[in-house]
Amino acid sequence: MKIYQMEEKYRQFIGDESRLTGYCDSLSFPETEDEAAEILAHMAASKTPVTLQGGLTGVTGGAVPQGGHVMNLSRMTKVLHYEKTKDGALLTVEPGATVLDLKKEIRGLAGKNRLFWPVWPTAETASAGGIAANNSRGICSYHYGDARANIASVRFLAADGRRKTVSAREERELFGQIVGGEGAGGVITALELTLIPRPESLWAICFFLKTENAAARFVEGARRIAQAHREAAAFVAALEYLDGPVLVLIKANRASMAKLRDLPELPADPAGAVYMELHGPEDGVEELAGELLELSADCGCTDEDTWALSGEAEAERLQHFRGAASELVNARIDEIKRTDPAITKLTADMTFPGEPFTDTLTRYRKSAAIVDIPCYIYGHAGTGSLYANLMPENAEKYEAGKQLLRSWARECQARGGTTAGEYGVGKLTKNLLDGLLPEAKREIFETLTAEWDPAGILRKKLTTHP
Ligand SMILES: Cc1cc2nc3c(=O)[nH]c(=O)nc-3n(C[C@H](O)[C@H](O)[C@H](O)COP(=O)(O)OP(=O)(O)OC[C@H]3O[C@@H](n4cnc5c(N)ncnc54)[C@H](O)[C@@H]3O)c2cc1C
Repeated sequence: MKIYQMEEKYRQFIGDESRLTGYCDSLSFPETEDEAAEILAHMAASKTPVTLQGGLTGVTGGAVPQGGHVMNLSRMTKVLHYEKTKDGALLTVEPGATVLDLKKEIRGLAGKNRLFWPVWPTAETASAGGIAANNSRGICSYHYGDARANIASVRFLAADGRRKTVSAREERELFGQIVGGEGAGGVITALELTLIPRPESLWAICFFLKTENAAARFVEGARRIAQAHREAAAFVAALEYLDGPVLVLIKANRASMAKLRDLPELPADPAGAVYMELHGPEDGVEELAGELLELSADCGCTDEDTWALSGEAEAERLQHFRGAASELVNARIDEIKRTDPAITKLTADMTFPGEPFTDTLTRYRKSAAIVDIPCYIYGHAGTGSLYANLMPENAEKYEAGKQLLRSWARECQARGGTTAGEYGVGKLTKNLLDGLLPEAKREIFETLTAEWDPAGILRKKLTTHP
């Protein structure tokens, strides 16, 4: 059992992409489940709090320690098992394997069978364990769903030392708590990913709209079309939004980001862009694309305002375009932090159920304008799960931004919505939205702790109060 005392060279392990920085006394990097179990037993004996970490790409501070011990799973990266099934394959991996590693691994293993896992978040260094713990979603979640829907089982090492393989089908409730449990109760030490066949044909289309109104109108229409084709052979897999300020960031950084350099020049001053992926048989996809192109023309898009690429490799270039939004928004926060290190990410990751897209967008845009804080909006337009990122430029604006975030959360709760979605709760969101977080999440944390972690070393809370 190797436990290292905290020192300067481990600084990278006390912060994540939330830009929150914590502290710890010691760290470990287990390479096997047995080693992880030994370390947990040691920490439980002294009731030392443990923070689990995967790839540290989380944006809510879930992997940021506040004292105690850090257990980083990034050295558990083995592929444990690969098995063909009637519809695809099952791939069992250790939790530290990253998106980038696993995409390569799957290509090699599946060979001509052309299989894929449709959950990958756009952060390529995120780990399989972190994705499961946060129940993350990729850009194609509109059709394929979240991590829970695409994992067949997880191996769970409880904080009290018990070990268990939990099947999604047979132990639905416990599985649903562990996947999305953000590391409460125990460590995910292996995952069985459900791989499915790639679509016969894949088109990626990006529509650039000239006004935010036109963009919202296009999203509403695209949602209707997507809904009508939901059960068809050819369907909309992704329906994502990037607002004008995000597009300005992308334009400004296009030359310096390798993965954006070979994309065409962006149209002049777009107010919003909609990224869509269409999957299915070639003729069905063409027909669906035709309907969307007609809609886009009605919303003022010309040929110059539309990028359409077909095939996986080509589509990947456009996926990078969508993925750049998260990276550039985070980089913008780093710039702000240089002037005031106390400023953190202020992101609304909320869903207002049944609300028209225009209303969600207008709420964020108008209220951010009233307090005069720049707001960058992008995310899953198909399901209305947008991220509104406030960028306060000084301490006073930061306070105003926090209040605004809380007022959105109150409204979201009043409408029966979810105030913390796929990014999880973490420590930052817990502080920012104290008292306004989803009750269902509190129940999951409490149930997992009561059942599997009697010493409370992995305890997660939804409030800053003791
Ligand atoms: C540029 C960028 C793009 C992103 N895109 C997306 C996106 O498209 N979709 C999306 O959903 N998210 C996205 N995210 C957020 C982030 O990538 C996801 O939350 C991801 O799942 C975190 O994985 P990780 O390995 O980095 O986990 P970490 O940040 O290390 O940890 C996240 C949480 O999981 C827990 N944890 C980690 N490993 C384990 C384990 N083995 N067992 C139990 N608990 C564990 C940690 O304690 C913590 O609470 C993005 C982030 C960035 C910076």
